[in-house]
Amino acid sequence: MALVSRIPSSSPAAIQSRKPKSFGFNPVFTVQCASSSQKASPFTEKHSIERYERDSWLYKNQLQQPSCCSCPLPSDQEFVRDYDIALQLPELRKLLEVLREKRENSNGVEKRGPGNVFLVGTGPGDPELLTLKALRVIESADLLLYDRLVSNDVLNLVGPNARLLYVGKTAGYHSRTQEEIHELLLSFAEAGANVVRLKGGDPLVFGRGGEEMDFLQQQGIEVKVIPGITAASGIAAELGIPLTHRGVATSVRFLTGHSRKGGTDPLFVAENAADPDSTLVVYMGLSTLPSLASKLMFHGLPEDTPAAAIERGTTPQQRIVFAALKDLADEIASHQLVSPTLIIIGKVVALSPLWPHAMNKTSTLVESR
Ligand code: SAH
Repeated sequence: MALVSRIPSSSPAAIQSRKPKSFGFNPVFTVQCASSSQKASPFTEKHSIERYERDSWLYKNQLQQPSCCSCPLPSDQEFVRDYDIALQLPELRKLLEVLREKRENSNGVEKRGPGNVFLVGTGPGDPELLTLKALRVIESADLLLYDRLVSNDVLNLVGPNARLLYVGKTAGYHSRTQEEIHELLLSFAEAGANVVRLKGGDPLVFGRGGEEMDFLQQQGIEVKVIPGITAASGIAAELGIPLTHRGVATSVRFLTGHSRKGGTDPLFVAENAADPDSTLVVYMGLSTLPSLASKLMFHGLPEDTPAAAIERGTTPQQRIVFAALKDLADEIASHQLVSPTLIIIGKVVALSPLWPHAMNKTSTLVESR
């Protein structure tokens, strides 16, 4: 197959080099910014200073203690404790009271009825991929609940008077269950707040948006969904990969790499997906890729099918690994890609201008977009 033969047999994989782009007026994407924060994730992970600062309204009491004055942020260990304490009901009740008061005092007329809940997709990370609708809703929210895949650049757009609450799951930290998130959304909406639930990518693509919508609607709360650019579209565009292409791929399929009970087997049936004329995009697929790849090949997908894994796509920390399907898992492991990583498998991957056509280059590391 012509496309596939572009992969060098001696060096089947490559991390593709790409000159960092300057986005002119937006300092977030300058070369300097990208290189100085290379290791830092743009997402809201546990060491994100921005996240702690953003949520500081919750920790106000702790942060005002004298021992904190010289060091505005608590140590990790203290933080775990404070974080757990801070997320207990009393703090949230206080916020509810503030919101109720605000509502009663607005123009001297008490507004009746519940507030709105917006499920807002924030795209894969680059804030310029937000829709105008999302931006408008984010700017006018009273309270925003967000999780790990919402990038700090997006959070920076939130209005100064809005309250931000992190409800993401981070290994080793207290995390809210889906039921707790449902209850939070309901309580605040019932208090008349305009509540925004921010979700990375599109809320209805592997985002559990459907469950939240279902729960709230059953409780009589109106839910509006604002779509976001899903990782597949945002990242494919970034890499110049057409997800479908006449004569190359006649369909595209979004898969979850999730396994049951944290095992290594992906949930879906590989034999249905092993179609050489289809593009496969795997979300949450890092840990199950070895099993997925061998099943796809077992069911007939050629082992030299072009594939790519993209870590932190559309952000200044984006890294890309290109490889033949049979080598992809090993290459991902050797370059230690971490979540969030998206995997794209299919002949269309070789249509990317970044695909390693130069056979004498084994690998080149990209540090930023
Ligand atoms: N609702 C999201 C998907 C959530 S599932 C969407 O529509 O994009 C989480 C998975 O999405 C991650 O494990 C990863 O596979 C993928 N993902 C989301 N954002 C990403 C990014 N910026 N870079 C790479 N993968 C991403």
